[in-house]
Amino acid sequence: MSALNHLEIYKLLPKTNCRQCGALTCLAFAAALMRGDKTPKDCPHLDPAVIEKLSQGREPDGSARGEGEQELDGLRSRIADADRALLADRLGARFDGARLAVRCLGKDFFIDSNGNMTSQCHNNRWVEVPLLNYLACGAGLDPVGKWVPFRELKEGADRAALFAQRCEKPLKELVDKHTDLFELIVDIFDGKPSPGSFDSDISVVVHPLPKLPMLISYWKKEADLDSSLSLFFDASANENLPIGALYILAVGLLTMFEKIVLTHGKGI
Ligand code: SF4
Repeated sequence: MSALNHLEIYKLLPKTNCRQCGALTCLAFAAALMRGDKTPKDCPHLDPAVIEKLSQGREPDGSARGEGEQELDGLRSRIADADRALLADRLGARFDGARLAVRCLGKDFFIDSNGNMTSQCHNNRWVEVPLLNYLACGAGLDPVGKWVPFRELKEGADRAALFAQRCEKPLKELVDKHTDLFELIVDIFDGKPSPGSFDSDISVVVHPLPKLPMLISYWKKEADLDSSLSLFFDASANENLPIGALYILAVGLLTMFEKIVLTHGKGI
């Protein structure tokens, strides 16, 4: 958790008490941050440097560091104790007798016999938390082919507002500025265009995990109607990944897309 106390956090906030974060005042928001009930990104008025400072020592979902580490150790132990050949078969992974290999957004991630993750790209918690949960808890159900919004998943309603604020809204803003992001997603992440889904203008299906497809649908701005973007999951998603890990996966996807835009020199 950040080493700052709530008054030091408060000094970094805009102090306008605009309530857009859901707290009544900036001071209440600072206290909520301390408790882990809010994350720095819940205030839409913070610049990236302040978010970075307030995020130090936090888990990807904003909770205080340490709370999740024990849980991750538990997941690693479960994977290490499991029949990994069977597990690979069930979850669409591969097992070479030593390591599990899981395809995640067009890249391979490897899990050793102790449940530790490595890959050719930079490892981060956005991938590690969902991937370990997927391997340790996933039922391995095949997608049923029915797309549902986050709020319709089991226990999704409780986090639906946060999901819209942290994932769908910033992704929509990113796509508004860089509609060609969809082409990059198809190119880099093995995405597949999905024409006609929900009558949207552009739809792309990606696989953040082998049995966990995600549909990104975007409607362009038209006359008085603003653009909109929605993420949909296969109705089986909850069986393959707990809702908290699914949320982290979606926020991680957004983070990756932001990095791609930056990498391609477009600026966010
Ligand atoms: S959204 Fe930001 S500025 Fe507005 S009340 Fe919350 S912390 Fe303060």
